[in-house]
Amino acid sequence: MAKTTTVILGAGFGGISTANVLRSKLHSEHRIVLVDRAKRFVVGAGQTWVMLGQKAPEEISLPLDGLARRGIEVVTSEVTAIDPVTRTVTLEGRKLQADHLVLALGAHLNLDAVPGLAAAAHSFYTLDGALELQRALSTFKGGNLVVSIPRTPFKCPPAPYEGALLLADHFAKLKRRKDVALSVYTVEGAPMTTAGPEMGQFVRGLLAEAGIALHTQQKLVRVNPEARTLSFEGGAAVPFDLLVAVPPHEAPKVVREAGLVGESGWIPVDPKTLAQT
Ligand SMILES: Cc1cc2nc3c(=O)[nH]c(=O)nc-3n(C[C@H](O)[C@H](O)[C@H](O)COP(=O)(O)OP(=O)(O)OC[C@H]3O[C@@H](n4cnc5c(N)ncnc54)[C@H](O)[C@@H]3O)c2cc1C
Repeated sequence: MAKTTTVILGAGFGGISTANVLRSKLHSEHRIVLVDRAKRFVVGAGQTWVMLGQKAPEEISLPLDGLARRGIEVVTSEVTAIDPVTRTVTLEGRKLQADHLVLALGAHLNLDAVPGLAAAAHSFYTLDGALELQRALSTFKGGNLVVSIPRTPFKCPPAPYEGALLLADHFAKLKRRKDVALSVYTVEGAPMTTAGPEMGQFVRGLLAEAGIALHTQQKLVRVNPEARTLSFEGGAAVPFDLLVAVPPHEAPKVVREAGLVGESGWIPVDPKTLAQT
């Protein structure tokens, strides 16, 4: 069989798993090239530990170049253009030609999607955001701490609820729980709708037990960073002292510019194979 080059864009869980599985199945003469703008792979689930100061960034991440030992070529670069027809990818200063092209660029997290949100919100959805939130928590004097889920879909549906529960526990351990009014405002009809009504009820119970107020079907339309208020569709302004948000998710710009997204704003794929439809 002729030598092939498989180019995988994005070295998150998706891209790395694909590279590892292909490497275990393909003869070494077939190239596997993994491209990411980042030099390290970060485990998102560890970011709540970073938020609480329980782990350092190096403890929840690994250098991607370690994959070279397994015969995976790692390229550090921004992907600036994708031509899905010719399977040509433009990187910073060079182009890559693929026989097989895998897109695993994840979702772009866009706090700017809601006016005022970027200026006001912290987020543990990125490593830098988790570090900044850790600093903000260390100087937080108490008051209204709001966890906001402004848009769906978002990755890891339990994460914001887990984050709120961990924050409740954090302040309880500091013996400051009574100084912090914790609430979750979500656009969802119930927590974790993807996991069904029983799970929603279960999470509601956990939040109630921890004294966290839950407000569902709240679509955030605007944040006023100066007045520190949240405005919801058809509702009154809600004050906050510290705001933690799940950034609205969207398909990465390079994917949108390649004309790959459908009406949903995402790449339409066969759910069984994840092949583009
Ligand atoms: C706080 C938190 C907790 C979580 N907890 C869990 C959990 O407990 N269990 C679980 O299963 N999942 C969890 N998740 C979800 C999980 O992390 C994601 O589902 C997973 O990371 C998605 O992997 P991915 O490979 O599709 O995308 P990503 O991990 O987003 O990887 C995409 C990669 O593409 C790169 N990239 C994007 N655009 C470009 C470009 N133009 N040029 C170059 N590189 C680019 C990015 O740098 C990134 O490395 C959690 C997520 C968060 C944020």
